[in-house]
Amino acid sequence: MPIRQLSQSLINKIAAGEVIERPASVVKELMENAVDAGATRIDVSVTGGGGELVRVVDNGCGIPPEELPLAVASHATSKIAEADDLFRVGTLGFRGEALASVAEVSRLILRSRTADGPGGAEIEVVGGKASDVAPCGCPVGTSVEVHNLFFNTPVRRKFLRTTQTEFGHVSEAFTRIALGVPHVHFTLRHNNRQVFDLAASDGWLERIAESFGRELAEHLIPVESIDGDVCLSGYVANPTHSRSNNRMQYVFLNGRHIRDRALQHALGEAYRGLLTTGRYPVAFLRLQMPSEAVDVNVHPTKLEVRFVDSGRLYSQLLSTLRSKFLTTDLTVRVESPGDDPTGGHDRVRTAELRQELVDWAKGKVASWDAPTRAGSEPAFRAACGLGQSVQSRESLQLSRVDRGGTGRESDEVQAHSTEPPTTAAPAEQPPTANALAARSAPALQIHNRYLVTETEEGVTIIDQHALHERILYEHLRERVMSGALETQSLLVPEPVDLSAPEAAAALEHREVLAQLGMRIEPFGGNTVLVAGYPAMLANINPAAVLHELLERLLSGGRRLDRGDLLDQLLHAIACQAAIKAGDRLSPEEIDTLLKQRHLIDDPHHCPHGRPTALIFTREELDRQFKRV
Ligand code: ADP
Ligand code: MG
Repeated sequence: MPIRQLSQSLINKIAAGEVIERPASVVKELMENAVDAGATRIDVSVTGGGGELVRVVDNGCGIPPEELPLAVASHATSKIAEADDLFRVGTLGFRGEALASVAEVSRLILRSRTADGPGGAEIEVVGGKASDVAPCGCPVGTSVEVHNLFFNTPVRRKFLRTTQTEFGHVSEAFTRIALGVPHVHFTLRHNNRQVFDLAASDGWLERIAESFGRELAEHLIPVESIDGDVCLSGYVANPTHSRSNNRMQYVFLNGRHIRDRALQHALGEAYRGLLTTGRYPVAFLRLQMPSEAVDVNVHPTKLEVRFVDSGRLYSQLLSTLRSKFLTTDLTVRVESPGDDPTGGHDRVRTAELRQELVDWAKGKVASWDAPTRAGSEPAFRAACGLGQSVQSRESLQLSRVDRGGTGRESDEVQAHSTEPPTTAAPAEQPPTANALAARSAPALQIHNRYLVTETEEGVTIIDQHALHERILYEHLRERVMSGALETQSLLVPEPVDLSAPEAAAALEHREVLAQLGMRIEPFGGNTVLVAGYPAMLANINPAAVLHELLERLLSGGRRLDRGDLLDQLLHAIACQAAIKAGDRLSPEEIDTLLKQRHLIDDPHHCPHGRPTALIFTREELDRQFKRV
């Protein structure tokens, strides 16, 4: 084929392919323009997940009628004029191609009026073809409507997912921009239902709370530091509020939401030792720096940027968080009914709670012997988490209280049948020999996480969490398949605040969740009611269970079929209900767990595919000890 100059329309379509991936991209571009126009109020409303209509109305500076054709032309912008400007970009946009790209693949109507203009004017562009500018009545500011996105690019249209999923992306895009500029009033509506109404606010925490719920906001720790020209500020979550992916790490550079691998890594490093593997910290961070210190022109949607001194920034973030954690009490708060919500830091109350827990644990420990006789039905139930998970959960809580504020994962102090704790020893105290290993007839528990057993072949080392998780998973799957899953109904349904994408996912997957015993009802806004949940998780807060399940749903990434989805959720429930690394087990519990080993299909791998057991053959041991 000979070389040809491409038509402007084709160039725009190619550009649209880069920046406009789905309705959420349109929402992002239009909202950025409204922010750049200095609006103090921005109303976003979408229909059908945004594929039918996206409308963004602002009260910003407006566009004079004669400039409307330029606004929708490609490579036309009011934000930069010369090459040097690229190195001092103070606005969210600057490429001058968003409106042209969107207009190429939709029907776009732009109406605008400036404060000193005689009246409003509008222009309509259908698949890249612009109408003449016509006068129209409208308030000062700009409104952009985008109808039937991708109507002329059927391939793109085919890639759009369900309305709820697309709306989940829209709402994520909305949240990212709204978090960047808390002084602007934003609203979001979907199919005429109000989803967000975020009042203008001076404090960032208020905006975070309105976007992600008060519960999370209450567990945020403020951080702040200045290094030369760079000001870092924001909030990071208490390690109790970690997630299974890094999507709740929001970083804003001069008001622009960005993703940066190095900074994500620094966050992970700062939390090292505070979170178990596979868990990610939640963070909301703002960076202010001179625009010359960063190149924003490296990514089509400007999601990634290049810092002049990224090493220094990495160190700043890491050291700010580390020194903050050293001076922060990261103890898990134990809240009992009527407890003062700030009571977590009240020493007297904490001591009382500890004593209560110790007394309670003594009683529990005494009663463990009876129901866990190996081979009996209660023993089966216990190993499958029906009943026993309650105990292991509660003993886990005990271990958390016993941490004494170090925030370290503590293996040492645990309730256990042969030596009930009489006082809560500080975690720093060296563990006694007895606390390091519990022995049952066939196995030895070491470091409160591995079971060592002698077998005919040699020695097997079992990961207690992985094995229990596998057993629970098999058991659950069987129950779900036969429709015999126990559900715990709540007398008073519990309202749970979700983020918008979570709420969308919850409602979209209501049926699958119900199959697992998680019954939810819409409650308006981003709140849902939990009316019932899996009995196996009886002692875990329903909100925590729901958050975990929704995270799995959202991180599914590609479109999972119903079977895969169910499987993912079974894994999540099994993981939550299973005993944890760090849980001290009684000899009876060890026995029961090992007995179940033979009941499951694939005892060598936990549902995540990690091995549940390592085998050392006698020959290998002999070889290692140079006996042969
Ligand atoms: P960019 O934002 O990169 O400049 P766009 O294609 O998004 O490019 O917008 C082109 C131009 O149209 C902007 O530079 C701005 O002058 C004008 N414009 C777009 N949206 C608005 C708005 N909501 N209010 C005022 N001006 C706008
Ligand atoms: Mg723009």
